[in-house]
Amino acid sequence: MRDTFHRTIDYLRISVTDRCDLRCKYCMPETGVEPLTHGDILSYEEILRLAKCFVRLGIRHIKITGGEPLVRLYVIDLIGQLKKIPGIEQVTLTTNGTHLAKYIWALDKLHIDGINISLDTLNPVLYREITGRDVFAKVFSGLQEALKYPAIKLKINCVPQGLSGQDIAAVAGLAKDHPVHVRFIEMMPIGLGKEFPLICESNVRQELEQTYGSLQPFHENLGNGPCRYYSIPGFQGKIGFISAMSHKFCSNCNRVRLTADGKLKTCLQYDRGMDLKALLRSGRPDHEVELAILQALESKPGEHHFTETFVVDQEKKSMFQIGG
Ligand code: SAM
Ligand code: SF4
Repeated sequence: MRDTFHRTIDYLRISVTDRCDLRCKYCMPETGVEPLTHGDILSYEEILRLAKCFVRLGIRHIKITGGEPLVRLYVIDLIGQLKKIPGIEQVTLTTNGTHLAKYIWALDKLHIDGINISLDTLNPVLYREITGRDVFAKVFSGLQEALKYPAIKLKINCVPQGLSGQDIAAVAGLAKDHPVHVRFIEMMPIGLGKEFPLICESNVRQELEQTYGSLQPFHENLGNGPCRYYSIPGFQGKIGFISAMSHKFCSNCNRVRLTADGKLKTCLQYDRGMDLKALLRSGRPDHEVELAILQALESKPGEHHFTETFVVDQEKKSMFQIGG
């Protein structure tokens, strides 16, 4: 499908839950979060039905996200079912890694097309400070377990936060020691992320170049998103930057999002889209749902306006409620 700015939209991020076992300071408050109830969230049958509607409209890549997707029961079965939908080319997962060791064999068995693991530091003490939980060892063993499955493409996602001791170069070093790509994501002013300083790509790049020498642009496409990759001699994986703030990529945006409670979101920053759960639950047939998706797509803005102080239709949800 195409939006009003002639962008091809073929990528859908599906959030399966707003619950999470971590409390990353920039994403989810420690207390005061009222999770969605079982009845609020889309059932797997509803997700599969919507996924088929999206595929008929041209979606080819699906990312499963959350909250933490691996905390929802039987999410592996959902991923397996999504993989079987004719027309879907890739189903990938983004996870904090706490449950990866347990599920990696099953994910490998169903031929998952890629897994992104969020890891902001290799320092267990700082990890606990950032995430509110003392589970670095668990996450790291999840990563090590995942590395035993060479067919699974692994990426590490790291959000620089300007914290003293955040070991950006050590995190990047995972791409030296292992066949994984390490991507640095600029903090976006969404939810709690607004309270953090912006550590720009240029700052991270400078730090990495001081440690590893110059980063050389790598022009092959390694995924479905806006990441720009660089090579470092001697590294097995690439270093990537997803820099929504300093290198706006909206003109190439290819995605829409489905929240756990069934809202189609057409842009991260805006509360615009369509309540697809309401349509499903009021008994609308697929062709009406598809028409509603196309109508909602017309509300997709041309770009974000994160740097502006007053924005109409500003999204009030946090990342854990949107899915990143
Ligand atoms: N729990 C899973 C995880 O951590 O990968 C999936 C959901 S999480 C919301 C998806 C990604 O969004 C994570 O990599 C996280 O670091 C990132 N994220 C959360 N808040 C952000 C913000 N304000 N700006 C940029 N990235 C953010
Ligand atoms: Fe949970 Fe992921 Fe948000 Fe961290 S970034 S609180 S792991 S949803």
